[in-house]
Amino acid sequence: MTSQPLDVIEMNDFVATIKRTSRKGSVGFRLSSGKVVILAPRDIPMSQIRLILESKSHIIIDKLNNKNHPPSQASRVPSTKRAYVSGEKLAYLDSELVLQVSQGGFSTQVVDLHNINVSVPAVNSEWVRNALIRWYKLQAQKHIAQRVSYFAPMVGAWPKAIEIKTYKARWGSCTSKGLVQFNWKIMMAPSAVVDSIVVHELCHLLHMHHGPDFWAQVVRVFPAYQDAKQWLKDEGHHLGLD
Ligand SMILES: [Zn+2]
Repeated sequence: MTSQPLDVIEMNDFVATIKRTSRKGSVGFRLSSGKVVILAPRDIPMSQIRLILESKSHIIIDKLNNKNHPPSQASRVPSTKRAYVSGEKLAYLDSELVLQVSQGGFSTQVVDLHNINVSVPAVNSEWVRNALIRWYKLQAQKHIAQRVSYFAPMVGAWPKAIEIKTYKARWGSCTSKGLVQFNWKIMMAPSAVVDSIVVHELCHLLHMHHGPDFWAQVVRVFPAYQDAKQWLKDEGHHLGLD
């Protein structure tokens, strides 16, 4: 048997790895440690697998949500849950911000490069959290647009538009219409990791798959890709505001 590189399909809320099997007829799926694995007969084209996945995606998402927090996976549960009070630390690219909460009109701003001041009319954790998410999304729009302009000439492909989204289980995506989308949560990762995700999605404008041509282009533009990928594997579950 020859071993082929695994195909991957990126859906809205999850990424599925395709395993070709000698099974006949139907496409099956299973969840293995939070990942979706599709078992598909060799003769079914990717376009068909994608259609089947789309039709089953709500079932898969339900299962993923139930399976994402098994009690045995202690490392996936933050050791201390955020309370959104003054003094808490928030990762932001290569720095760390200290949260300062106050009561007043709505505003969120970074002062002295170190403190993030959040003002809300009534101090409660949900309002502070929402204000922070809005702030991260805004920073993502500016920062990622700038990184796309930097890397697009190196990749040799320009997206039609950039969108910032909230995803549970993916960092970015690229549509066949040339739209690249990024999860705002990556703004909590080091800037090199953000760059690696930007390059990954830009390379999809040239190659809509995860085949050897795609990876060659990614590594040509961003040679440290493996390190960034490893960082996301180890630390990615800490990104976001829960
Ligand atoms: Zn990809």
